[in-house]
Amino acid sequence: MVKESDFEFVEEPARVPGEGQALVRNWMLAFEPAMRGWLNEGESYVPPVGIGEVMRASAVGYVVESAAPDLAEGDLVTGTFGWQDYTIVDTKRPALFGGANKLPTGASAEQTLSVFGLTGLTAYFGYLDIGQPKGGDVVLVSGAAGATGSVAAQIARIKGASKVVGIAGGPEKCRWLTEVLGLDAAIDYKSEDVGKRMKEECPQGFDIFFDNVGGEILNEALLNMAQGGRIVLCGGISSYNKETLPPGPSNYMQLVLRRCRMEGFIVIDFIHRLDEAMTDLSKWVAEGKIAVETDVQEGMENVPKTLLRLFEGKNRGKQLCKIAEAP
Ligand code: NAP
Repeated sequence: MVKESDFEFVEEPARVPGEGQALVRNWMLAFEPAMRGWLNEGESYVPPVGIGEVMRASAVGYVVESAAPDLAEGDLVTGTFGWQDYTIVDTKRPALFGGANKLPTGASAEQTLSVFGLTGLTAYFGYLDIGQPKGGDVVLVSGAAGATGSVAAQIARIKGASKVVGIAGGPEKCRWLTEVLGLDAAIDYKSEDVGKRMKEECPQGFDIFFDNVGGEILNEALLNMAQGGRIVLCGGISSYNKETLPPGPSNYMQLVLRRCRMEGFIVIDFIHRLDEAMTDLSKWVAEGKIAVETDVQEGMENVPKTLLRLFEGKNRGKQLCKIAEAP
């Protein structure tokens, strides 16, 4: 588990933007479990955050000084601004890698960092491209009360699933899944026998399993897939803090017996299809078909603590932290 003492607060003067750059006051920071992986040495889909570097994070902020023709003082922007009060953005670079995008028209900072950000895109492309719903699917989502899982579960309903079952930690989250998000059933993995409950809810098996958790929950789901089912490997938070990784899922042979497919993906591979996802997601949010839930903490001093909330299951929906007053 990451400790608060792994981070150090450092003060230095904000830099002055050069040509094509702007100085951004960071306002709202977003948190994702992947940040834990960025702190590990070794090869991954992005380089690790080096010791002494600013912690990487998606954020929304506002321009306070600009030497870039397409950004003006006061513009609201989003990008990978990191855990810092001010960021220099370079408008010649993509938003994910040092640049900045203006906020989608009419979108709040919370929406930009959740349903209209990488979270929404992950749920969208993971469910549609990897899950390949056929209509009438029976769907299981783990981490269902979290940022990605809650959006994926709602997309499943929109795309005609006949039944959507969510897995989450604790009765309160489970109640929220059925009463507010309208899922058909919820399984509390902290107090219930997950395998037994999967069988009770869907004796005929799941056509799609959108997995955010891995570990034992994935292993149980493998025993409860329908013939030709698809397992979307979105993440495996149950192992992110483990020093020694457990052996792989012992029930994997079910993939063979039931002719299932299990496939991983990384959302940044779909970034060129951003417009397609945004068209659908913004329509569904406007129509009230996707409820957007955020958990907003406050204060730069609470930023390291806020990251831990993801691993303690304290967040419902997207975990954010506000580090400045609204512009
Ligand atoms: P999130 O679901 O909002 O927050 C994490 C949640 O995970 C917690 O609220 C907690 O909920 C649950 N959790 C924590 N420890 C757990 C454990 N040991 N076992 C089971 N559940 C545990 O986070 P998110 O940003 O939406 O990310 C969800 C998953 O998607 C992560 O695995 C992440 O790495 C993955 N992801 C993948 C991509 C991609 O491109 N493939 C992109 C973004 C995110 P409970 O209270 O229910 O335990």
